[in-house]
Amino acid sequence: MTKHSFPLLAYDDIIRSIENINPIQYAKSRNYITGAVSYLSPYIARGVISLPLVANIVLKKFTRFEAEKFLQELAWREYFQRVWQAKGDAIFSDLKHPQIPVKHTQIPTALIEANTGIEGIDTAIKHLYETGYMHNHARMYTAMLTCNIAHAHWLAPAQWMYYHLLDGDLASNMLSWQWVAGSFSSKKYVANQENINRYTNTNQTQTYLDGGYENFPLPQIPDPLNASSALSLHTLLPESDTLTIPTDQKIFIYNAYNLDPLWHKEEKGIRILLLEPTLYTRFPVSKKVIDFIVAIATNNIPNINIVVADFNDVFQHIPKNNIHYKEHPLNTHYTGIEESRDWLCASVSGYFPSFFNFWKKIQNKF
Ligand SMILES: Cc1cc2nc3c(=O)[nH]c(=O)nc-3n(C[C@H](O)[C@H](O)[C@H](O)COP(=O)(O)OP(=O)(O)OC[C@H]3O[C@@H](n4cnc5c(N)ncnc54)[C@H](O)[C@@H]3O)c2cc1C
Repeated sequence: MTKHSFPLLAYDDIIRSIENINPIQYAKSRNYITGAVSYLSPYIARGVISLPLVANIVLKKFTRFEAEKFLQELAWREYFQRVWQAKGDAIFSDLKHPQIPVKHTQIPTALIEANTGIEGIDTAIKHLYETGYMHNHARMYTAMLTCNIAHAHWLAPAQWMYYHLLDGDLASNMLSWQWVAGSFSSKKYVANQENINRYTNTNQTQTYLDGGYENFPLPQIPDPLNASSALSLHTLLPESDTLTIPTDQKIFIYNAYNLDPLWHKEEKGIRILLLEPTLYTRFPVSKKVIDFIVAIATNNIPNINIVVADFNDVFQHIPKNNIHYKEHPLNTHYTGIEESRDWLCASVSGYFPSFFNFWKKIQNKF
């Protein structure tokens, strides 16, 4: 990826980039901002490729042991999705423990302005605005600064980050923020300036994060993080295609989390990318994100129609047996023939209180 944009790959190029993953290099360098990470998340989160597809391609060249760290990271996404399936909307509030202390439920203004005074974080936020991507470690630093140094509640800042991410995945997002803030983990995550310098290639000293871990929690909120703003996010949806939906043909419903070009590829039917205004009012995303979703759909799925409307407004008169879609927690109001998503381990579902319990259950499947 370049400094200024995230590459919009055609399906064959996505597959080639999976083939080029070196999980050994990945394990050594993934924590560094310039490390050998895969940049696959926008394609996985949008359902263009599935977790088992990625795992199977990597395991053609590398052993399970060589690929273990990479497989574990794929499993984190599945874990969060399983928590979401099991807990539903409870993931949008403190899941295990209340976050303490909380000074406000807004967002630190310094975050919005990429002006926290911590270079590694400010550069990563500017990069997020430009490209729609942020490295995992930078996400953790941003979240810990917000929740554990500025004492903002995690929800509004998580919504802000989700708004900008091309890979926006509500489960990975909300639950990672909660993991950092201590409401979905046993311990809050903090990083000092030395740690941030090491992994973000910066060399700052004498900042409010400079010093040993015995200094945390800081006795007061640092000045640059004191101001906060109310969150105001809106989605600009595209024009809807004009389309009369036939009642005698199969309808395949794609959405922002199912853009799989191979899904029912050989079958005849009407293909619809459904963008529901009600969903985007509840969980807004940036124009960059919408443009990315529409571009993936139109570049990879022949004859796809873009329909901007809520499910029930469009499909209420269509026979249920004609409507096909993939299961997802954001789809529970769809009716028709629901198909399963592709899981790393379809037989292990339900709520696991910790990732490592979940990993223990699935690791032997590889
Ligand atoms: C505060 C916070 C918010 C996050 N929000 C999102 C989000 O909205 N959408 C999202 O897709 N990921 C989110 N993540 C997880 C993670 O940061 C990204 O999946 C990862 O950075 C994507 O980059 P990559 O594809 O280059 O990852 P790689 O390191 O190359 O990993 C390969 C794949 O493994 C999975 N993966 C890796 N790390 C994680 C992780 N920590 N949690 C879950 N899955 C992981 C992803 O599918 C990723 O594409 C968040 C993490 C944090 C700490």
